[in-house]
Amino acid sequence: MSVLKITDVSKVFAGNTVAVDKFSLDVADGELVCLLGPSGSGKSTLLRMVGGFERPSGGVITIDGEEITHLSPEKRPTGMVFQSHALWTHMNVFKNLAFGLKLRRLPADEIKRKVEAVLELVGLAGYGNRLTHQLSGGQQQRVALARSLVLEPKILLLDEPFASLDQHLRERLREEVRDIQQRLKITTLFVTHGQDEALSMADRIVVMRDGRTEQIDRPDVVYRDP
Ligand code: ADP
Ligand code: ADP
Repeated sequence: MSVLKITDVSKVFAGNTVAVDKFSLDVADGELVCLLGPSGSGKSTLLRMVGGFERPSGGVITIDGEEITHLSPEKRPTGMVFQSHALWTHMNVFKNLAFGLKLRRLPADEIKRKVEAVLELVGLAGYGNRLTHQLSGGQQQRVALARSLVLEPKILLLDEPFASLDQHLRERLREEVRDIQQRLKITTLFVTHGQDEALSMADRIVVMRDGRTEQIDRPDVVYRDP
């Protein structure tokens, strides 16, 4: 069953740059789809439109059949993790994660329970009191992921989340994120320009070029003829 439905979505920026050109995609429940393509192919713009950070020039995006185009990012059932994690450096890890739950006025004991569970999930149990700038790059990116997951989004949006990390760490986090994604069975859109990343993580790969789909298939099919 498809959870996320993107239909004929376009984005034209001022100056007539067509970043996304009548793009359509159905993402099934629990599926991880990679948007793969060279720089400038429209991946990030597309993801930002799903997350509500960019308004489509045309087309329709629905989640569970409900049109979301008019909703602000915080009202959408989506959680976005950016390339640079933008954690709040003046707050400890716990408060970084608790912040969104407090806005939702959850009781303190429930916040504590949820935050501790998600810290455990990303391998940072016991790190609640650390300040984020005391953490390594990989740990900070895990916190950023945890901060999205703790709000229990229906769809997880990852925009090159490992781009600032070294190769070794990237490979490790890739496995961790895929593992978490499968455990939670959370529907995920993942933007990358790295073929190996797409290959190792995706259920399906959308190869993008000039704002359109060039190819869409399972990793083993996309890479059959390199
Ligand atoms: P990718 O994520 O694949 O690198 P982007 O979605 O960032 O591609 O960009 C697609 C195209 O849209 C590029 O030509 C880029 O220059 C343009 N673009 C992206 N954001 C803006 C913006 N805010 N204003 C104008 N043009 C933009
Ligand atoms: P503020 O007053 O700025 O809103 P608080 O200092 O009261 O924030 O902390 C918010 C909640 O988070 C409190 O219930 C506090 O006990 C809890 N908290 C803060 N850090 C941790 C932590 N490392 N582990 C568990 N609970 C924490």
